[in-house]
Amino acid sequence: MKLSNNFPRIAIVGGGIGGLAAAAFLHRVGLTATVYEQAKHLGEVGAGLVVSPNSARMLRRLGVFDIFLDSAVPLDIGWEFRRWEDGRVLSAENMADRCAKLYGERSYVTHRADLLQTLRNAIPDHMIRLSSRLIDVEERGDALRLRFQDGSFEKADIVVGADGIHSTIRGLIATPTPAEYSGLCAFRALVPAQEAPMFTRRPVQTLWIGPGRHLVHYPVSAGSMINIIAVAPAAGMFDEDWNATSTVDEFLAEFDGWDPRLIDLISSVRNPGRWALLDRAPLDRWTTKRMTLLGDAAHPMFPFLAQGSAQAIEDAAALAHCLVGNLSDPEQALFHYENIRRPRTTRIQELSRSRKDTNHLPDGHDQQLRDLRLETADPLLQNAWLYGYDAELDENLVVR
Ligand SMILES: Cc1cc2nc3c(=O)[nH]c(=O)nc-3n(C[C@H](O)[C@H](O)[C@H](O)COP(=O)(O)OP(=O)(O)OC[C@H]3O[C@@H](n4cnc5c(N)ncnc54)[C@H](O)[C@@H]3O)c2cc1C
Repeated sequence: MKLSNNFPRIAIVGGGIGGLAAAAFLHRVGLTATVYEQAKHLGEVGAGLVVSPNSARMLRRLGVFDIFLDSAVPLDIGWEFRRWEDGRVLSAENMADRCAKLYGERSYVTHRADLLQTLRNAIPDHMIRLSSRLIDVEERGDALRLRFQDGSFEKADIVVGADGIHSTIRGLIATPTPAEYSGLCAFRALVPAQEAPMFTRRPVQTLWIGPGRHLVHYPVSAGSMINIIAVAPAAGMFDEDWNATSTVDEFLAEFDGWDPRLIDLISSVRNPGRWALLDRAPLDRWTTKRMTLLGDAAHPMFPFLAQGSAQAIEDAAALAHCLVGNLSDPEQALFHYENIRRPRTTRIQELSRSRKDTNHLPDGHDQQLRDLRLETADPLLQNAWLYGYDAELDENLVVR
């Protein structure tokens, strides 16, 4: 690829967590990009997200960590696994002092809109264009031409597809296998903390596991709201849409017979959302000469490891390093980025997928073995490869 000067025109499609993080990391290394986001406002929809040590470490480098801390809740305990019928604790990660000692960071929970706002503070205004829904990208000589729904066009040397799970750019780069019905869906809700049972207000990411279902809750928005995500049978639904809704009765019916504290929690919900969890195989490529993918567009995953936004942020940091480290050959830089990121995110995609079975075992021999493993494990140490990773210090980042 020939550039008119040494600075490529970079277009980022999608202003979600990954797109804004990419703009912020590019800005930090002195490169300019334009983010094209279809929504009129950033953070229009969404609920709770986990910012694990591997992504907190990256956010801190963007110089906006104080803003993040205004609303994020630092976790004392992460992944507190509890048994469905009586709440017996099976396993827990000390996310406070022990995590900080081991990995130099803690884990946080936050609202998606708050995290977007944090990232927004690391990006100059001129780098973001709202109400810009991309329709297509065409190769025109030495440049790429982006076509938008409102009929406008823009040119770029590099296009980064950060356009989420329903990515348009993904279809221009790879031939993904169709998303498959997984049989599962996620109920989602936010409840004002004062209306939720007291035990849900603890700074703990609590995960109740039982036959065919699990439920996670934690506080967000400086503790003022409780975020709930509950995975249950999908009953034929295919809607992957944050605006799809359900009813409290449907939600309660799925968790009939579970610990009464959970029933109280679900009863405090007003308008639950319901999102089908479709299964997508990892892609075997993310990159062409001038285009690449990032975040959910590159590696859509089940939410069972809560790593979706963390991996998007890691991608963003690695992409900026690769591009600034090889400005004379952006094509090589994009392939280098994919080669560093794809093995790690594929591992996380596959591990998340396997949780679909282990979290939902029916009571019996296999469940008892799983619970014994949970009770005897040291999850914080076992997750060293995940939490201890520094996306800016990956040994393969050095351009060869
Ligand atoms: C509306 C929404 C709400 C979410 N809420 C939660 C949540 O509550 N909890 C959770 O764990 N995860 C949530 N997620 C997923 C989570 O944010 C992602 O897994 C993770 O942050 C990865 O980020 P991403 O930037 O790759 O994708 P996303 O965060 O999905 O961002 C993709 C962005 O691209 C934009 N976009 C898509 N197509 C186009 C186009 N053609 N042109 C221009 N812009 C486009 C979208 O509007 C969106 O802003 C949500 C995602 C979305 C889109």
